[in-house]
This record gives sequence, C-alpha cells and structure tokens, in this order.
Amino acid sequence: MLRHLYRRARHYALGGRYTLQMSGIIIPIVDQRSQRGLAIPSLTRPLAGGTLADTRGRQIRDLRISVTDRCNFRCTYCMPKEVFDSNYPYLPHNEVLTFEEITRVARIAVGLGVKKIRLTGGEPLMRRGIEDLVGMLATIDGIDLTLTTNGSALKAKAVQLKAAGLDRLTVSLDSLDDATFRAMNDVDFPVAKVLEAIDAANAAGFEQVKINMVVKRGVNDHQIVDMARYFRNGKNIVRFIEFMDVGSTNGWRMDDVIASREVVERINAVFPCAPANPNHVGEVAKRWKYQDAGGASAGEFGVISSVTEAFCGTCTRARLSTDGSIYTCLFAQKGYDIKSMLRSGVDEADDDAIAAALGGIWQQRRDNYSETRTAETAKERKVEMSFIGG
Ligand code: SAM
Ligand code: SF4
Ligand code: SF4
Repeated sequence: MLRHLYRRARHYALGGRYTLQMSGIIIPIVDQRSQRGLAIPSLTRPLAGGTLADTRGRQIRDLRISVTDRCNFRCTYCMPKEVFDSNYPYLPHNEVLTFEEITRVARIAVGLGVKKIRLTGGEPLMRRGIEDLVGMLATIDGIDLTLTTNGSALKAKAVQLKAAGLDRLTVSLDSLDDATFRAMNDVDFPVAKVLEAIDAANAAGFEQVKINMVVKRGVNDHQIVDMARYFRNGKNIVRFIEFMDVGSTNGWRMDDVIASREVVERINAVFPCAPANPNHVGEVAKRWKYQDAGGASAGEFGVISSVTEAFCGTCTRARLSTDGSIYTCLFAQKGYDIKSMLRSGVDEADDDAIAAALGGIWQQRRDNYSETRTAETAKERKVEMSFIGG
C-alpha cells in the first residue's frame, strides 16, 4: 500500500503537487526545481571588496556547493527510497554545473568575502573526477576547502583528495551498530567500511576528521554514548546533529527530534563534560570538552542544535545547487538562477555582472527559518537537501 502511494507521489514529482499522508505524517511531494527562480535583485549598496553583508549585517563567509543530486545511500531522513527510487528524475547531465562553472562562481564568491568552501551533495564522491574539481578550487587563495561525504567511497579516494588540495573532511556516521547503520542508510551498507574509510582518511593526512551523526529518536539515539565513547580518545570529533525538517519528503516530526541538551545530558552522565569556547564567531557546532580529556586526543564533541537553538543570527552560509542556483537558506523554497548568466553567451556574462548578482542576492537576504519554525512551516515545500547541499 505504502509503495503504491509513494509511486503515485513520484508520478507528480515533476512540477505536480501531491500530499502523501501516512500514519499521521504529512509528506508534501513537489519538485521545487521546476519552480521558476527568483528574480535577481539589484545591488542596494556598491560592492566593497571582500565584505558583503545582508539585511541583518551577516557577512557572506561560507559557500556550500552541491556537486551532484545523486547518492548511493537512501538515508531515511534525507532521500527516502520510496521517493528517490530508480525512476526518480535526477537532473540531466547538461543541467549540472561543470567544474569550470563551479570554480568560476567560487572564485567570484571568494572575492566577495567567502572564506570557506564545502563540497557536498548528494554524495560528492559519486561525481566523477571530484578530485579534479578539488584541484581547481584549491588554486583559489585563502580558502578553507572541505568536503562532506557518507564515507562509502572514501577509502579509495582519500589519498587523491589530500593530494589535490582538500584541507578537511567531514564523514557522516549515524551509528556504530551495524544493524542500525544499515537500516538508516537503507541500502544495507556496512558500518565497518565507513570506519575503515575514516582510518584511511587519517592515514592520508586528514588528521582531524569531523564525524556527523544525525540523531533520531527511537532510531539511533541508543548510540549517542557509544559514539562518544568510540571517538573521545582520538583526534576525530563527533558532532551530534538534531534531526531537521529539510526538504519535503523526510516525514519530519518534532517528536523525533532529540534536543542537543538531552544529548549532552546523556553523555555527561557517563563522561563528565563542560562547555568550551567557540573556535570562531558563527561556529555551527557548540563544543563540549570531556573533563578527563588529555594527551593527544581532541577530547571534545560538538552539538548542532538547528531546531532547538536557532543560530540564524550568525548564519553566513550561501549554497550553490547542483543546477547552478544560489540559495541563501537551507530551508528555502526557491533559489536564484546563476547558471543562465554563466551560460548566457559565448563570451559569457563578465565576472563583475555575476559578482553584482551575488551581491544583490546577499544584500537583500533576510532568512531566519529556524527562528520561526513551527509544525506548520515544517510542512511547507522546501527544496531537497541533496539538491542544495547539506
Ligand atoms: N552525502 C553526504 C553525507 O551524507 O555526508 C553529503 C550530503 S548530506 C545531505 C550532508 C549532511 O546533512 C550529512 O551529514 C547528513 O547527515 C545531514 N543531513 C541530511 N538530512 C538531514 C536531516 N534531515 N537533518 C539533519 N541533518 C541531515
Ligand atoms: Fe546521501 Fe548524504 Fe543524504 Fe544520506 S545524508 S542520503 S548519504 S546525501
Ligand atoms: Fe541559516 Fe537558514 Fe539555517 Fe537559519 S535556517 S541557520 S538562515 S540556513
């Protein structure tokens, strides 16, 4: 029955609207990619090299780039397999930004103040030649270049990525318990391979890998303390992320969220810990130090409280979607089409025009979704995370 409903939902997935109701969970299904992009606003102030602020004074500092909307996992909270099945209409090749286009936008964004670039997706290591893109981006001066991966193809790629100039890595890992991990990625992928990949990344020179665990009540919360235990004496740092209402297909409910406060309480009961100062303003994760930390270990973990403690006030992140649109919030419903500008002629729009477009988009930014989230907003149709990049 469910399968049948999902099939009907997918039928409407291109431009159609459909609301799937199952067990009290409302899942609006719509392909936001087919919605027309927002009109690109003009600059409200002239661009001053290297600084660009939005309406709340938030500087642009980070650019997250989704290099593919495809993934080999079907994490139930991100790309549920009932929607993202073999017939799902992924972007055709010609809609996807080329490495040259991505690098051009990145270079222009760095001129406006971006200091950190994260490659993501979908699964970025599924994009053929990803190490070549890393090499191209690494030629841009003064940036911190990082990548988030599910780790499934990392063991084979870690050395190449390091050699190409990748600075840092984040690996997603939702459980150490194999059965739980396989159920969450929903493609029966074994946890041992991701753990091996993390070791391979450390050996390749990524000394401190960040480990992301999305915590979902009743699904993997029994793994919180085990994850803390496993990583607490090493250099890698685990970050516990609150389950978010991204996209329109993951059936999010507040009841499934475990607040970071509770995560800290559970860890503190076993391994006493204390808050640590942020490394920099606008750091997404709140740091906690183990009281008995010492030696060469990082001795800390982080919590990312996107739901229970909104950090919109310090949000400096822009996103470039797989098909070349700029989104100024993870929970946006629409983006600004930059690809058309990139492809607007043989000579292409000049870089100043693209800088002015990025500048105009950022200057009028007001986003604060997490400050205003309600059960109702959670049902709104938002663009999928795999498409704009987590
Ligand atoms: N495929 C890569 C991966 O999983 O690391 C990169 C893309 S993934 C969308 C980026 C991050 O978003 C991952 O750490 C993932 O766990 C997180 N994520 C995805 N859906 C989420 C949700 N509903 N709530 C919180 N985090 C989520
Ligand atoms: Fe794929 Fe990452 Fe989404 Fe999981 S979280 S389905 S690995 S894009
Ligand atoms: Fe930034 Fe939007 Fe998240 Fe707020 S809700 S922190 S504006 S991405």
